[in-house]
Amino acid sequence: MSHRSDTKTSAQDQPAWHTMEAVEVEQRLQSAAAGLSEAEAVARRSVYGENRLAPPKTRGPLMRLLAQFHNILLYVMLASAVVTAALGHWVDTGVLLGAVVINAIIGFIQEGKAEAALVAIRAMLPTHATVIRGGSRRQIDASELVPGDRVLLASGDRVPADLRLITVKELRVDEAALTGESLPVDKTVDPVAEHAALGDRHGMAYSGTLVVFGQATGIVVATGAATELGRINQMLSGIRQLATPLLRQVDRFGRILALVILALCAATFMLGTLWRGHPAAEMFMMAIALAASAIPEGLPAIMTVTLALGVQRMARRNAIVRRLPAVETLGSVTVICSDKTGTLTRNEMTVQRVVCAEQHFEVSGVGYAPQGECNLGGQPVAPEQYPPLALAIRSGVLCNDARLHEENGQWHIDGDPTEGALLVLGGKTGLTAKLAAEAWPRLDSIPFESQHCFMATYHQDQDGAPWIFVKGAPERVMDMCDRQLSTTGDQPLDPDYWRRMATDIAARGLRLLALGYKQARPLHGQLGMEDMQSGYCLLALVGIIDPPREEAIAAVADCHRAGIQVKMITGDHAETARAIGAALDIGIGKPAITGAEVALMDDASLRQAVQNVDVFARASPEHKLRLVQALQDSGQVVAMTGDGVNDAPALKRADVGIAMGLKGTEAAKEASDMVLADDNFATIATAVREGRAVYDNLKKFILFMLPTNGGEALVIIAAILFELTLPLTPAQVLWINMVTSGTLGLALAFEPAERGIMTRRPRPPGQALLSGFFVWRVLMVSVLMMTGALGLFLWEMNTTGDLQTARTLAVNAVVMAEMFYLLNSRSIFAPVVNRAGLTGNPYVLLAIGTCVLLQLSFTYTPLMQDLFGSTALTPVEWLKVIGAGLLVFFVAELEKVVMRRTSLASSDCSSAY
Ligand code: ATP
Repeated sequence: MSHRSDTKTSAQDQPAWHTMEAVEVEQRLQSAAAGLSEAEAVARRSVYGENRLAPPKTRGPLMRLLAQFHNILLYVMLASAVVTAALGHWVDTGVLLGAVVINAIIGFIQEGKAEAALVAIRAMLPTHATVIRGGSRRQIDASELVPGDRVLLASGDRVPADLRLITVKELRVDEAALTGESLPVDKTVDPVAEHAALGDRHGMAYSGTLVVFGQATGIVVATGAATELGRINQMLSGIRQLATPLLRQVDRFGRILALVILALCAATFMLGTLWRGHPAAEMFMMAIALAASAIPEGLPAIMTVTLALGVQRMARRNAIVRRLPAVETLGSVTVICSDKTGTLTRNEMTVQRVVCAEQHFEVSGVGYAPQGECNLGGQPVAPEQYPPLALAIRSGVLCNDARLHEENGQWHIDGDPTEGALLVLGGKTGLTAKLAAEAWPRLDSIPFESQHCFMATYHQDQDGAPWIFVKGAPERVMDMCDRQLSTTGDQPLDPDYWRRMATDIAARGLRLLALGYKQARPLHGQLGMEDMQSGYCLLALVGIIDPPREEAIAAVADCHRAGIQVKMITGDHAETARAIGAALDIGIGKPAITGAEVALMDDASLRQAVQNVDVFARASPEHKLRLVQALQDSGQVVAMTGDGVNDAPALKRADVGIAMGLKGTEAAKEASDMVLADDNFATIATAVREGRAVYDNLKKFILFMLPTNGGEALVIIAAILFELTLPLTPAQVLWINMVTSGTLGLALAFEPAERGIMTRRPRPPGQALLSGFFVWRVLMVSVLMMTGALGLFLWEMNTTGDLQTARTLAVNAVVMAEMFYLLNSRSIFAPVVNRAGLTGNPYVLLAIGTCVLLQLSFTYTPLMQDLFGSTALTPVEWLKVIGAGLLVFFVAELEKVVMRRTSLASSDCSSAY
């Protein structure tokens, strides 16, 4: 192909497409009106490659490994290794260096896993493109686009490749991603001067920018790395850095803690040497032991893994988190505002009633199979006998962008299910879309936008006469009509009759559409808003059933139990919304208000209204924004769903913006914190549950980790204060920390959601993590651990005076206490002395099993005995060790009982656990 040499994959060599007329672009890229054939597209893809941007540059493995050493604790350990080496304590030096390396490797692997999990999730959010291939319109993955493809753009789309526009209908594009210009730019098809800046190339639409209004067709001129976006190599969608408010809080806490501990170590060293006159080498080892014991080094890495695992679990259940902080916020959501159609309902639409000026027809048949008939008074009728019915059906089929097709005996709809239902109605009466379009070809159209609530098309019949059809929300269409069609011809409109009929249909929970027509040409040749003012004749009202999803009914009940209010914000008719709401247990016995009423309210009265109203009908995106604000102003934490381009501000404003994965526009997804892969309300409830579980697990891990360090630190501090021989050597302390953070603590990241997690009230937002209760629990368990370890150490020293055995006892006592406390930590307040509590998380058992083996090797293998100065224990000594573990276990369980009973923990209990 001749054009290939022109269109190299490097953007620098690109012809100046913006300077060419559309026809020239078509010729150069050999792109006919019917688009490329499938075979040609495949051939071009092998030349140009996939339309993908290279992933953003991440740190290489070496840099990532090195970064692990950039950590206060490791600096301290490295410095200590140098000093111990200088003092000739080679074993300690070896253990310190070993610990440094192991720590870095664990951090490296865990961070790598977390990053890989997030990258995998990013790949779950593909961008789609609508193209014309082989003469028909199709949806494909945007990565399959090749130069020469014809792409259709509509409002809300992200431009999938660099396009030269060839037809444009009021197209406005937000190019901020590329040019930084925050106001949308109007597009035309005109060429511009060669040196025009990117932002002034009005005939081009660039990859990664967002269509905020209108439609267009364009020819792909560059894909992947050859696009303008590819040149600046900016990765768009995706998950940002691995940080959330909670992680940052813990990180800050960890750093302050490390500094305090270091200061304490320095003070210990100074006081010991200068005041008490101990040898510097001995005091130095004490100080190192203290530092190693008290700093919770595993904390950040395991917290990150916990978060990544939670995000992965959510993705498996169709909730794809785009911004990590949403995981935490989900746990404190108090109100979920949901769309109705497709989220709370099944979006499987079937026309059930057609109400004309004189007759009311019932339509039989369910689902998308075009089998059924129109009945009048229970008797099947042929539409030809009733001209208003026949024309209504025809207008519904013509004023339609959906496609009905059969695959393996199953009927499917491509496009808007509301429109699909009208195609099925046509099919039931023998009027297929193909037949209708051949007889009355379409010359122009105004597609449906929820802002204006109608769609219109312009046709020519067999005699060459012009027809404009409109379908949309009844109020909207009736505004344009002054006549209505009866079997005997048209007559003046009877608005009262139609309003009564509309209320009657809507009260049955049916979705409403009105159909109208006018026999006229568009005023300016092309169909525009000026043609949609008046002069129409009303044909019929159509009632479409869209049953609620069974799982949504259950999920709404779950949310109510979890103290979360569910509000329905829909573009549908108020009566329909109320009827569907009643089926879902939303807003029963409460008034429903409409967008028009919301518009009339000032902020104060809206704040009042949002407390009492659960169903908002005929609401448009700007109402959504005001509703989110009003709810937030009254102290609620709001999750809001959305799909259209105009929903973006509300999604951004909401605490958790949730976009629809299937029917949502790219603009909505871009603005959201989370995307529902299945558009299902039940998935939101699942995500809230998972969000609560992740937060719980983070808390559980902290509550496990801190006393572990606390216990060890207390043992050392006690030894220093009472001038005892160190019960744990620095090497032993490091061993304990490796074992506990590496094996034990990680198991809590896999903890499943607790049973009653959806019966608690939402966690108050901004609740401090390290509450008074937390400090108490950490101190209590630290003291218990110290009591066991120090107790056994002193007992042994006082009876036999054997330092090696005493230290081995102390180490095993601390680890045993941790193993038991890991079981306690599976739940913060609920008892674990039951089957589910003890065996519910196999990872906990696995971790304990591994830990037992490690301790046996620590105690019995000659190598470990040499390295750590440990020695074999007798069965009786093991019983003492187990006793130290049980002490922690039972006292901690007892404390939970007391906590559950007293009001002390009631706020914590009811809100977050
Ligand atoms: P939700 O906001 O819960 O998704 P919805 O789908 O009813 O509800 P919109 O899509 O904004 O909200 O639709 C508003 C109204 O516009 C509908 O009640 C219907 O009367 C009309 N309508 C919906 N789809 C079309 C369409 N494709 N063509 C013409 N009119 C439509």
